[in-house]
Amino acid sequence: MAATQPETQTSGMPMVQAMAHARAAFASLQGHALPPLPAYYAVWFEHHAGTRPEMRLALEAAIAAGRVDEALMRELSSRFVEPLPEFTALSAALARLGGTLREAMGAVASHGAGTAAFGDALEELSAGAMQDPQRLRAALSRLAEDAREMTRRSKDMGSRLANSTREIELLRGELEDARREAHTDALTGLPNRRALDQRMLGMTADAVANGEKLALLLIDIDHFKTVNDRFGHPVGDALLRRTASTIKAALPEGAMAARFGGEEFAVLLPRLSAAGAFEEAEKLRLAVAGQSFSMRSTGARLGPITVSLGLAMHEPEQDVAKLVETADAALYRAKQEGRNRTCTSQAEHLAPPPTPRVAAKAAKVWS
Ligand code: GH3
Ligand code: MG
Ligand code: MG
Repeated sequence: MAATQPETQTSGMPMVQAMAHARAAFASLQGHALPPLPAYYAVWFEHHAGTRPEMRLALEAAIAAGRVDEALMRELSSRFVEPLPEFTALSAALARLGGTLREAMGAVASHGAGTAAFGDALEELSAGAMQDPQRLRAALSRLAEDAREMTRRSKDMGSRLANSTREIELLRGELEDARREAHTDALTGLPNRRALDQRMLGMTADAVANGEKLALLLIDIDHFKTVNDRFGHPVGDALLRRTASTIKAALPEGAMAARFGGEEFAVLLPRLSAAGAFEEAEKLRLAVAGQSFSMRSTGARLGPITVSLGLAMHEPEQDVAKLVETADAALYRAKQEGRNRTCTSQAEHLAPPPTPRVAAKAAKVWS
């Protein structure tokens, strides 16, 4: 009879609503001929519940493009639905800490003032804040503050609360480390795809709000598979690390580089015109092409390593998925047209206007 009791809650969602999303999720799985695996089901449930706007954008783009398959389900599940590793790792420690603090609170109950606020912060911690990094950080800050306050108030409990404060500070540090780790690519040290997704949402929103331009570059190493095949995976890895640091070192101020996946990188270039962004893209391309790579052990040279780049300018009405799709199409063109080049989404941006430096050189050649 659960369906006739709309007030029944499931983790904050009315039962009737949850059932409707569940039915819609199954219908979507069937409609797209996907097996009803829990991870895929969760993606569709979240989609119908509308709880993950970024995932909705990605999924809607895939539906429009007819690209809904198991690979997409796995990608969306790992990017948007699975719990962040930092929270699973920390939840046990937080539960332990909760016990310690409750004990301390019991002992200082006689002090009255201040205890209530402390209890609230603790409640916040146990009431699902672990699912949400922002709330978790806020709750930890509050606990640290309250514990410090209680330390001042209670001479008897001073040392025990001081221990708790230290423990919370430690935990906060661990949370920060875990958060950084969850947003960093382990091989190259660049921000990873998750971090890029977040920054893209923020930077596109800022660009629209401030009426500023924003460019996205997708950079793909040319014939990278050949490097792996000829020299082995570890050499391929070293090359990825070097390319990442070359790109990072050549970035203009305010730009952000991330590992997009495999041998692909993404760069966000704020506040540049299409011609300016193209110029920066060409600088990055030349920075990579200008490097020489040789094997430390044998001295064998790897041959020129080049990259192809796809450049897209963000349009105000465009969502993030569309921006990525446009840059990807431009990258595809760069590959088609012979690699080691930058292509843009608009043909008129293909040839940038000559910079004063280039113009001066050209004048010299022709005089
Ligand atoms: P194209 O010029 O068309 O981009 O050719 P490509 O060989 O670079 O592209 P392709 O997509 O055929 O191959 C990419 C290769 O990158 C295949 C994959 O094994 C390799 N790769 C992806 N991630 C890593 C990694 O982390 N380390 C290493 N060593 N190789 C990787
Ligand atoms: Mg590639
Ligand atoms: Mg490649």
